[in-house]
Amino acid sequence: MNYNEVLNQIYNESKLQPKIGNVAISIPELAGIDPEKFGIHLIILNNNEFGIGDHLEKFSIQSVSKALTTALAFSFYDEKVWERVGVEPSGNPFNSLVQLEYEKGIPRNPFINAGALVIADMLISRLENPKAEFLQFIREVSGYPDINYNFKVAKSEKETGFRNAALCNFLKSFGNIKNEVEEVLDFYYHQCSIEMTCQELAHSFYFFANEGKTKKGMPVLTTSQVKRLNALMQTCGFYDESGEFTYKVGLPGKSGIGGGIVALYPKNFVVATWSPRLNEKGNSELGMFALEQLTTKTGMSIF
Ligand code: GLN
Repeated sequence: MNYNEVLNQIYNESKLQPKIGNVAISIPELAGIDPEKFGIHLIILNNNEFGIGDHLEKFSIQSVSKALTTALAFSFYDEKVWERVGVEPSGNPFNSLVQLEYEKGIPRNPFINAGALVIADMLISRLENPKAEFLQFIREVSGYPDINYNFKVAKSEKETGFRNAALCNFLKSFGNIKNEVEEVLDFYYHQCSIEMTCQELAHSFYFFANEGKTKKGMPVLTTSQVKRLNALMQTCGFYDESGEFTYKVGLPGKSGIGGGIVALYPKNFVVATWSPRLNEKGNSELGMFALEQLTTKTGMSIF
């Protein structure tokens, strides 16, 4: 298959799509981003990689980071992770509070904000210097030693993160946050502020497609663990739009309000897209379109 040609076609068709949605405004520091940005990067396992558009420009990965924190927590705690976080789709928006009370402080899954806060708490309990060590983990799995936090974005979210603060305090009232609320929120805002290009993002998720091993062969998760996290990305990676993403794209993946999406076909490829206009569910409109085109044109979906 000529992937350059396929990406070119998808890129050109995507550019002609109606401009639907708006950039995220919940984090003031992200509100000024150019909505026209658009990039795709595709890595074929044990083969070449291909990129187009703004695929080498850094953006805020936001909730895409939740798959990486979950992977690190899973590597430490294994199945014990699921004593404090569930594995079911929530059917609710990513920042929703309502379910938590009914379900006594056990978030439905690690990809909604409540679940990601519990995962952050687990990492803090386990790491001596959580922010530095998590960054080190990302640099190692991706193979890019200059990946970093954007401290301005983290600070900006902290100043306006009233919902996350509410969620974290609520979780703490149920005993499902063990560390200080302030410390958990600080870690969470930093993990979300990490910046990557589409190329770096695709490389960071290589181990999810490569049976738990990075491109350089470093084991991150077992094959069984990676199967489970891919299943979770499939069912929960796009919040209350996970069914739609599965229906249209047919790959496990994770989105973020910075406009990034990463998706993968186990043992085949990893692909990252970036387009900051979000639909009403908080997922990148054009990114979803491009990925739907990719699996349709190539026939490469897990279904
Ligand atoms: N930092 C964002 C928040 O907590 C992440 C949300 C997202 O990317 N969906 O609201």
